Amino acid sequence: MATVPNFFYHPRIMEYDFGHGHPLRPERLKRTMSLLAACAEVDLIDPGLASDADVLRLHSKEYVDAVKMAGGGDHLPGGFTARYGIGPGDTPSFIGMYEVSLAYVGGSIRAAEAVRDGADLAFGIGGGLHHAQRGNASGFCVFNDVALACSVLRERFDRVAYVDIDVHHGDGVEALFADDPAVMTCSIHQMSPGFYPGTGRAEETGTAGTTVNIPLPNGTTGDIWLDAFRRGIIPLLEEFDPGAIVLQMGTDPHFDDPLARLQVSAQEWLGAVESIRDLGKPICATGGGGYNLSTVPRMWVAAILTLGGIPVPDLIPEPDATDYGTRTFFDPELPQPRGVGFLEAERALSILRAARPKGWQPR
Ligand SMILES: [Zn+2]
Repeated sequence: MATVPNFFYHPRIMEYDFGHGHPLRPERLKRTMSLLAACAEVDLIDPGLASDADVLRLHSKEYVDAVKMAGGGDHLPGGFTARYGIGPGDTPSFIGMYEVSLAYVGGSIRAAEAVRDGADLAFGIGGGLHHAQRGNASGFCVFNDVALACSVLRERFDRVAYVDIDVHHGDGVEALFADDPAVMTCSIHQMSPGFYPGTGRAEETGTAGTTVNIPLPNGTTGDIWLDAFRRGIIPLLEEFDPGAIVLQMGTDPHFDDPLARLQVSAQEWLGAVESIRDLGKPICATGGGGYNLSTVPRMWVAAILTLGGIPVPDLIPEPDATDYGTRTFFDPELPQPRGVGFLEAERALSILRAARPKGWQPR
């Protein structure tokens, strides 16, 4: 069997669990690891926990202390949730929250270090927690491992790109780098009334001109999604010419995802991953959102194999008896009708094309 290289995975990410009824279930990762093992050899590396110093690269000391307190199990003072985003709601506290968060950050940071030090490809599949802000948690995300990975890559590369195909806007990463002409952040996402987090308009181009957003409405189909990604994000990445890319691979654009309303198939979603691979840049790939236990594992495994240059098998290997909704990695039927979201996508692309002047120049 072919080997997937540099796969950083800390077992304690399975403990990143907000409890019964929360959509972010550790089972997503467990099933992914099991399916991956059936498809390829994996160069599995324990990254160890990230350190205080690692997260303090981008998070405030006050917030890091707050996460420690939240994970200690003590009663949290009044106003804690409003201030730090941890508590009843999207991102509840749990015992061990600090250490377990350091486990997924460790995977992403060590993967980024491998790329910084010369690897063409590395994975931190437990990461991708793109909503976390400098001083607070948000949307299931405690620490922003993907932004930290960008920061690590900047130690070697003068330009770094962050590409986010999660259905939710990569707002935390965008906010951390909106003023930085050396980091381009690109996000293609659903945007509709009431949909989290509510940011990510095409007009948000950042003070440095390195913020790229393609918002798409409810019901946008995968043909439009992939076409907008290829015509909107890929040319800008080619112009920006980053030394390396952090790829956040949220699988929740899929049409069967319970939290979102895009209509993207597994194979169309994989098309975006292929386009990033085809840029020929070193890649640090992470996980992200995705809440359907049948679709997430087969999409992530297809992406991991594809980035690793390993053909995706026609059929999901039989030894793994989990229900993936289909026997194949790809969806046998595409949502109909096609072409939904065309006008909104074209509008976003025209705004991106007109976004001048830039704080950066093509090389
Ligand atoms: Zn998401």
